[in-house]
Amino acid sequence: AQFLQAPVFQRRKVQGVKHLIAVGSGKGGVGKSTVAVNLALALSRLGARTGLLDADIYGPSVPTMLGLKGQRVYVNDQNKIIPLEKFGLKTLSIGFLLPSEDTPVIWRGPMLMKALTQFLFDVEWGELDVLVLDLPPGTGDVQLTLAQNVDMSGAIIVTTPQDVALADVRKATSMFKEVGIPVLGVIENMAYFVCPESGKKYYIFGKGKVLEFAQAYGLKILGSIPIDPQVAEGSDLGLPIVEAYPHSEVAQAFLGIARLV
Ligand code: ADP
Repeated sequence: AQFLQAPVFQRRKVQGVKHLIAVGSGKGGVGKSTVAVNLALALSRLGARTGLLDADIYGPSVPTMLGLKGQRVYVNDQNKIIPLEKFGLKTLSIGFLLPSEDTPVIWRGPMLMKALTQFLFDVEWGELDVLVLDLPPGTGDVQLTLAQNVDMSGAIIVTTPQDVALADVRKATSMFKEVGIPVLGVIENMAYFVCPESGKKYYIFGKGKVLEFAQAYGLKILGSIPIDPQVAEGSDLGLPIVEAYPHSEVAQAFLGIARLV
């Protein structure tokens, strides 16, 4: 509340970046990072110059998901961080600055905000059509800092059809609305499972609940991603499904979402 009361916010544009799109969620573990990574890759496949910033400072997953674990970034003589490049994406994560992947980030709010603004503004991003931001889950410091300081095109919300996930996603949606960031739509992750033998669809976490939520909030569903072992495997191996199996149904779903964004 203290932050919300501050009188004026200067929302800065990230130099050279046309559109900044945040990917958020209410809860952790719904596949937000998986979606952010694959969406960024899909945008890049469609020809957009794309970057991916891992703003999930306390739990960075991008280094693992892009197969960049253990890699480090450097600062040039103008004191700008040079992002890494993988699969045609420019990318930056706190993970590229920590001494080891087991090092916890135990910063308080002000440190965190400083790091985050540096991650956006003191980076040699070059010319990008889209910079995708993988936010931490929930409605905390990071989301507020970014909302107040950065000129964003919009936010995408990831949820699963579980009631526990949807309860928190309502809060996240309200937060974006409150801080004036347009919500571009919802991505339903782990929407169903297709039995490989019978081809039958099983709606493991429930059917129709995300649509109900989207309608209640006047939001568009940008796409539905099934539960697919190849998605999880790709993330763990550092070879995301859009890159590993671009013709798969899941990869095509991400491409479809990228066309809508
Ligand atoms: P979050 O960023 O919301 O915490 P992650 O993207 O880290 O979630 O995903 C949590 C776990 O679920 C990871 O192990 C990931 O590989 C897996 N996962 C995400 N989406 C899917 C999916 N559609 N099918 C199968 N596994 C998935």
